[in-house]
Amino acid sequence: MNYEEIYGLESKYTSGGVGRRPVALVKAQGARLWDSEGNVYIDCAGAQGWANVGHSHPVVTQAIKAQLDTYVAGQESSYNDQRALWMRDLAEVMQTSLGWDSCYIHPSNSGTEAIEAALKFARYQTGRPNIVATMRGFHGRTMGSLSATWNKKYREPFEPLVPGFNHVPYDNIEAMTEAIDDTTAAVLVEIVQGEGGVFPGSGDYFAALRQLCSERGALLIVDEIQTGVGRTGRWLACEHHALAPDVVSLGKSIGGGLPMGVTVWRSELGQFQSGLHGSTFGGNPLVCAASRAVIEVMAEEQLPQRAEQLGAWTRDALEALPARRIREVRGLGLMIGIELRTKVTPVLQKLMERGVWALPAGLNVLRLLPPLVIDQSDLEQVVKVIDEVLS
Ligand SMILES: *Cc1c(COP(=O)(O)O)cnc(C)c1O
Repeated sequence: MNYEEIYGLESKYTSGGVGRRPVALVKAQGARLWDSEGNVYIDCAGAQGWANVGHSHPVVTQAIKAQLDTYVAGQESSYNDQRALWMRDLAEVMQTSLGWDSCYIHPSNSGTEAIEAALKFARYQTGRPNIVATMRGFHGRTMGSLSATWNKKYREPFEPLVPGFNHVPYDNIEAMTEAIDDTTAAVLVEIVQGEGGVFPGSGDYFAALRQLCSERGALLIVDEIQTGVGRTGRWLACEHHALAPDVVSLGKSIGGGLPMGVTVWRSELGQFQSGLHGSTFGGNPLVCAASRAVIEVMAEEQLPQRAEQLGAWTRDALEALPARRIREVRGLGLMIGIELRTKVTPVLQKLMERGVWALPAGLNVLRLLPPLVIDQSDLEQVVKVIDEVLS
């Protein structure tokens, strides 16, 4: 099918809720994307952050193919070998990463569901009603996660949202000190705010926040849906600050391209009472097999280390550009934000015309989330194209 045919059908039937570029992508491999007209792009969007191991990684593809012939969607209400093995492997990396002795794992089908489960667990576990989130934070689009999300653009048309949510300035411990009290079930933060503009929080902030939550009996939930699975140069971004939260939400890359969300908490907090929360497809054998392959590939190919090295190289190269249109380069590992002095949308368009698929993060931030398997030569090309487009 060509672009006109694809566009014609989709635009006739779409709900319209998702903004789309005038391109139909039809194939992907590693860090490359192909459109319906045969154009090739370097993927610096990592498919909106879900492609940390790259597109169609052979180990992940093989795991999916093998499981397809055996058992696909499973039954929530039975035990399963793939889920058991996946839980063992995920617990191992999470415990190592966070210094937890043991953990409980709740699988679902998307990032927003991983946040919903964390919020429900926090209210259930503490018996308290309120959640403190941060300005510029993004946590998803279902009603609970949306209530924790800051941007009015996403929220206002859908009000009233869930009661009990409060937003305070990010990376500001005084504001947290005022906001957290004995009605606070949980505090929800990102280690690097993604959608909000690629803003990393400081180590001092997270250390003080950890202490504050412990003193006041509120759970600390970290949203690692975008920052997790190696993106920032560690398995979890929490590791940069030796931060041990109570609950972590994962999504995006953890499913290797299949839909998956995961909520993990330290086991001292206990479990949900049986029957209280679940999902038909959450933790199905197919996605568990894929996710287990992702965990294996991350370790085998040392992708967190690769993200750290390539990320440092790319930020240095961007900072060295003479471009007068860059205000600041921010980020951690291969999560990079380039704050421009102009609007980002026309820049994204010009990058695409030159074969680079990147993302915005707000009105004037260009965001790069390439697959962690990307070649350095591709990143060199990306920096060169950004320089051309900005000068
Ligand atoms: C993408 C994202 C979400 C939502 O995940 P979905 O799978 O789109 O529901 C939540 N939080 C963060 C930080 C994200 O980047």
